[in-house]
Amino acid sequence: MKHTTAIWWLRRDLRLSDNQALTAAARATNIIPLFIIDPVILNADTYSANRFAFLLAGLHSLNADLEQRGSHLVIRQGDIITELQRISAETGATAIFAEEDVTPYARRRDAAVRAAGLPLTLTPGLTVQRPDAVRKADGTPYTVFTPFSRAWHVLPRAERVDLLPSPQTMGFSAEITSLPIPDHPTLPPSVPFKAGEAEAQRRLQAFIRERVFAYGDQRNRMDIDGTSRLSPYLRFGMLSARTAVITAQEAIADAATEQQRKNATTFLTELIWREFYQSILHDFPHVRRGNFRSDYDNIAWINGPDDFQAWCDGVTGVPVVDAAMRQLRTTGWMHNRARMIVASFLTKNLLIDWRWGERWFMQNLIDGDLAANNGGWQWTAGTGTDAAPYFRIFNPVTQSNKFDPDGEFIRRWVPELAAVENKFLHAPWEMSPADQKQCGVIIGRNYPAPFVDLKLSRQRALDTYKAGRE
Ligand SMILES: Cc1cc2nc3c(=O)[nH]c(=O)nc-3n(C[C@H](O)[C@H](O)[C@H](O)COP(=O)(O)OP(=O)(O)OC[C@H]3O[C@@H](n4cnc5c(N)ncnc54)[C@H](O)[C@@H]3O)c2cc1C
Repeated sequence: MKHTTAIWWLRRDLRLSDNQALTAAARATNIIPLFIIDPVILNADTYSANRFAFLLAGLHSLNADLEQRGSHLVIRQGDIITELQRISAETGATAIFAEEDVTPYARRRDAAVRAAGLPLTLTPGLTVQRPDAVRKADGTPYTVFTPFSRAWHVLPRAERVDLLPSPQTMGFSAEITSLPIPDHPTLPPSVPFKAGEAEAQRRLQAFIRERVFAYGDQRNRMDIDGTSRLSPYLRFGMLSARTAVITAQEAIADAATEQQRKNATTFLTELIWREFYQSILHDFPHVRRGNFRSDYDNIAWINGPDDFQAWCDGVTGVPVVDAAMRQLRTTGWMHNRARMIVASFLTKNLLIDWRWGERWFMQNLIDGDLAANNGGWQWTAGTGTDAAPYFRIFNPVTQSNKFDPDGEFIRRWVPELAAVENKFLHAPWEMSPADQKQCGVIIGRNYPAPFVDLKLSRQRALDTYKAGRE
């Protein structure tokens, strides 16, 4: 059916290219690009000022792109249903198109919009394969990544020609009031992510040109810029999942050597992890609040508030943990290997409930995404879908030696340890008083002594998890 006026309701799909909701709305004569600032999200305990600032910057960028096409964003703030009803009445819109989302809140919200009689159509786009598309032969969802990934590969794949172009012009009827796009909060200069679709494309191209063929070899090194750093852009849909996946598939096809092919394939696999966790959240919404596996419901967490605060502040006395936590606070992003190390340290060595760490990450990550964050936390805590059994506990010193061999990552984020010799940097508490004096770093004075013994706390975690399961 051809509509005279349709609303393109943006949520986390801040792009013009390869946007299925926009393409559907663009069949109408007038398209109203609408963003509603939702007080529910602003007041949630997972709110992050940096992530909201990144979103606002993304709206400014998108608005500039729209203005070039004779259109502009309409911004409203308030109750979603009231605002949608109001703008529908003001504009005579007879259809609303939006990209589907999988969080329990988003699904409740969209169901309520429909129940209120608003003509909402949801389109795919959050993932390449829709969250309920990758299924076992009996129709049930996968709960383990490897078979999910195998089944994902068998489904029909999109090619570059299938990517939707961004519209050159957009019909817009001008007499609609809009709030200004807020200018605050803004991103601090220490956050190295410029918002917008053009920047997302630029990063993707640079990554493919310079790093994808070494990705598998370098992605775990915390001292090397070996990953794509596309997560904030995928989080807000400044880059479509299809564009990322198709570009990865093309890189695999273009690889000159077997090693290059393997490295590029690892990048595609990470994008499929993203799809996996969106599916898990879609099919098992209880993970939002609880363990994926209920046999872990009785773990006797210690939940020490001071330990938690030291972890948040990056002053635990374990250099790699402190470096990573400070990287998060300063830049709004953390390396994947570091995320696993700090999550393991919190849940296993400190025996703090993974939900505390999950919330802190959401409050600080620019790329904070319920599905990926929850999946990562439950994977590391050992309560999640698959892979990491609880007895696999990361040793932060071994990890640090392996993935930051020269200590560059630690020195960058924990400058008070800069003068410590490499052989002590990963475990500075092992320095003798003479070694400490020689480098001028006195443990307990210039840098904290760790408040848990790594070996004893590891055993305590094993015992506590085992007891919880019995
Ligand atoms: C405890 C924990 C919490 C996490 N929280 C988040 C989060 O809130 N948001 C988020 O996007 N990722 C999260 N991740 C996954 C991963 O750490 C980040 O996606 C990655 O570090 C982002 O950097 P990048 O863009 O350079 O990734 P790359 O290595 O370049 O990977 C490319 C893309 O694949 C996706 N991806 C990669 N690894 C994963 C993964 N394990 N799970 C899901 N998607 C993945 C991301 O979209 C990423 O941008 C978390 C991981 C852990 C262990």
